[in-house]
Amino acid sequence: MSPKYPETLNQLIAHLKKLPGVGRRTAERFAFELINWKPEELQEFGQVVTSVATDVTRCPCCSCLTQEGICPFCDNTERNASSLCIVSSPREVYAIEEIRAFRGLYHIIEHLLSPLDGRHTSTLQVSRIEKRIIENQIKEIILAFDSTLEGDATALYLKQELSKYPVSITRLGFGLPVGSSLEFVDGSTLAKAFSGRQIV
Ligand SMILES: [Zn+2]
Repeated sequence: MSPKYPETLNQLIAHLKKLPGVGRRTAERFAFELINWKPEELQEFGQVVTSVATDVTRCPCCSCLTQEGICPFCDNTERNASSLCIVSSPREVYAIEEIRAFRGLYHIIEHLLSPLDGRHTSTLQVSRIEKRIIENQIKEIILAFDSTLEGDATALYLKQELSKYPVSITRLGFGLPVGSSLEFVDGSTLAKAFSGRQIV
């Protein structure tokens, strides 16, 4: 860190640099912009950042983001509770909601299998999915994972674990570029992959 700035400014730049796509120059630009904000605006900004840790929590049922208690997806009787879309990050839920191709419920598994990075099958908590299959009498499961080796491995594993239940298991595939992360796929490609999902 450059010694020429006041220490607090250095710290601010260091935090901003942690954001994806933000290098040192951009972090400095943001920091100098923030210096020009009114004290009350900075205070409000700081308060919101602090609140993220306490106010934004996970739904006890599906792990989607929620402000308190059950999430708006689980707490909506108009959604089709017999259809479950499994994703690996909360952000993907919003991407799928945006294309309006799905009206069922979600389940977030937190990560894809990657034994080399220490992310093994035991951390997927398959029993939580099984409980939902039984309780909600789920008939359809859609695996919405990245089109990567990790996504393939996770889909294969879940298919093996869940095939003992009378559910149809499909995976987004058609139209998704190989090696692509769902997070960065545009809406029309995602919509195509959703409508072209295939039995796994
Ligand atoms: Zn939920």
